Amino acid sequence: MNRKRLSIIGSTGSIGRSTLDVVRQFPDRFQVAALGAGSNVALLCEQIMEFRPLLVSVKDAQAASRLQDLLSTERAARFPEIGYGPEALSSVAACPEADILVSAMVGSAGLLPTLAAIEAGKDIALANKETLVAAGEIVTAAATAKNVKILPVDSEHSAIFQALQGNHRETLNRVLLTASGGPFFNKSRKDLETVSPEAALCHPNWSMGPKITIDSATLMNKGLEVIEAYWLFQAPLDRISVHIHPESIVHSMVEYVDGSVIAQMGVPDMRIPIAYALSYPERLPIACPRLDLFHHQKLTFYPPDYEKFPCLRLAFEACRRGATMPAVLNAANEVAVDAFLKKIIGFYDIPSVIEQVMALHNPGSNPDLDAVLKADAWAREEASKNICARESKA
Ligand code: NAD
Ligand code: MG
Repeated sequence: MNRKRLSIIGSTGSIGRSTLDVVRQFPDRFQVAALGAGSNVALLCEQIMEFRPLLVSVKDAQAASRLQDLLSTERAARFPEIGYGPEALSSVAACPEADILVSAMVGSAGLLPTLAAIEAGKDIALANKETLVAAGEIVTAAATAKNVKILPVDSEHSAIFQALQGNHRETLNRVLLTASGGPFFNKSRKDLETVSPEAALCHPNWSMGPKITIDSATLMNKGLEVIEAYWLFQAPLDRISVHIHPESIVHSMVEYVDGSVIAQMGVPDMRIPIAYALSYPERLPIACPRLDLFHHQKLTFYPPDYEKFPCLRLAFEACRRGATMPAVLNAANEVAVDAFLKKIIGFYDIPSVIEQVMALHNPGSNPDLDAVLKADAWAREEASKNICARESKA
């Protein structure tokens, strides 16, 4: 059997590392053609030595020269071509020797390389939800035009995708997205006012990169996932609902017109949805812990609290307003989360910054890529100004 050749952008992150673990488990099925990362050149060097890509990219010239130095101390027969910066990243994403791109970078910086891969006719295993949030219409239209598959890696969307197999799309009635509720599910709004980044970074069920972990604590992650589901499954927004499910066993559900609800369950381990996206429509016997329902005994579900978690309300609103509003929501969130992690602003400043930036934005209609990129850049600048004004008042 021909091995499927992967290009991975964000290879040193949480999803990137889990993807390489799936590749490691199935050397007869997969091989790595290209890797893109940011500045963690020590880990990238290890990945190069183990997986032998032809092409790699890093964030900037300095990281490229550090990688070159590290590699020259290794006694390898062949080194990959090394590039840096956004163009090199897009070349990695669209690498001619790859069959599929694993889009695993964080933030809307993943949009252009993901689009480059679609334009080059590659299927996409999509973890980078910000790509669909910022430019859902453009990305899905490009994928249709190029006849490429967008295979969800996000566990909820993988669950929905799996629950949709073998059924007619017209019979889909509702999409029920589950959410763990994050580390603050049981805390009061008052407690949350003074919560620290360290506490927000302790997710009860999933081990993920810092940005998505904060998004999980504010429930912005679920808001971004609502928009992601809206584009991936072309479901009307009022047919997508969020169920808080603290056990993170039911990864999401689909309700059909006859009232049947189909759920996908499993332990919270990203290697399961990653492996499914890579091997679809087949399933792989991956080595990972198995679900023991006798151990869990109870699966519980609660409605979300939009007062305590205003980010979820803002995401629904951005999706309803459409055009460039979701790109603005996402970019303002990226800036606000970064400021929260640096202890410049508090937990509830995150939704407040986003809401104030959204209030200044006119989303227009039918944006092209240029309009999306401009809205993203504008929102970053407005969010930074807004945060500076808060700092000088404090
Ligand atoms: P992470 O922070 O662990 O990793 C991010 C990766 O992106 C790193 O390899 C980093 O080097 C790279 N990167 C960041 N900026 C870059 C740049 N400018 N140029 C090149 N590379 C850059 O993040 P993660 O948790 O792996 O999440 C990645 C994406 O997957 C996010 O969109 C997230 O929402 C989504 N996702 C993650 C999980 C999870 O379990 N971690 C689950 C579902 C979806
Ligand atoms: Mg998810």
